[in-house]
Amino acid sequence: MTGVTKATLGSPGIVDAWLHAGIDGLGDSRIENLEKIRQTEAPTSLTLIRSPMLSQAERVVAHTDVSFNTELDVMSALSSAAKKQDRIHGIVLMIELGDLREGIMPALIEKTVLEVLRFPNLSFKGIGTNLACRCGVSPDGTNMGTLSTLADSIEATFGITVETVSGGNSANLTWALSGADTGRVNDLRLGEALLLGVEPLHRNPIEGLHTDAITLVAEVIESKRKPSQPWGEIAESAFGEAESSADRGTISQSILAIGRQDTDPDGLEPPTGLKILAASSDHLVIDSGNDQEPLRVGSEVSFQLNYSALLRAMTSPFISKEMQF
Ligand SMILES: *Cc1c(COP(=O)(O)O)cnc(C)c1O
Repeated sequence: MTGVTKATLGSPGIVDAWLHAGIDGLGDSRIENLEKIRQTEAPTSLTLIRSPMLSQAERVVAHTDVSFNTELDVMSALSSAAKKQDRIHGIVLMIELGDLREGIMPALIEKTVLEVLRFPNLSFKGIGTNLACRCGVSPDGTNMGTLSTLADSIEATFGITVETVSGGNSANLTWALSGADTGRVNDLRLGEALLLGVEPLHRNPIEGLHTDAITLVAEVIESKRKPSQPWGEIAESAFGEAESSADRGTISQSILAIGRQDTDPDGLEPPTGLKILAASSDHLVIDSGNDQEPLRVGSEVSFQLNYSALLRAMTSPFISKEMQF
């Protein structure tokens, strides 16, 4: 299990909790987060799980053990940087299995492995794939079977060991825990599942995990009785098409001091009785019901977050993070 830290900006508190819980290694898509982890944490395997930027090859080699790759130009730069730094950098080749984000087409994988083996300061560690991110393609026996077969054929062709076969992200858990034959797959990269306790395909809770380990708290800065309908000529709003809604007469409307700059308002689940009406950069407009007392100015409202809302909240400098373990 590789714990993916990107949604928390490589938060030391969460990294510590995961390492104590027995996670095997850490992965992140941003070199900045991995550099931070490398400075503060006990030695553990660090993997850059996004294809390195050519311009960051030196930093990648200096601060990570392994990176996920698909481009020979990048691997060439990694090898040169590793030579200069007197290091060996590990390579996992990502394979395209249908979701059409990163990956080498399966027919070209052996050719690429051959090239990787020729670079003096690179060490071929294995293969991986990523599904369910761009097109929502689900991990299943077929695509995971292809990954296992490719691992076997690389071993047969080159007489090497494919150490890592990284099957995917949290979206693979349903398949991995279903009792299916997992073949050669020996690694999953998990972020959302560990943080939010849900699997991302249908957002079902995962047995034994808490789904409310993380909450977002926002403060009320205005609370008024207001008409539910705007007046004046209606054009576009700050974030595009203005939304129209049914006339509900006068409502208790509150504004919370949080907005699109801090989170994804569509990914917030308010407490029962409250409804999110709209969000702009810095304001979240809430309907607390026709008959309800308006929320008190200064009071706080807690939200459940989905992955998108979590990602933005954890990376917003305006949201303070408080952790208790
Ligand atoms: C973000 C990411 C993950 C983790 O995804 P979760 O859905 O949070 O588990 C795994 N692999 C890659 C390549 C990623 O970019």
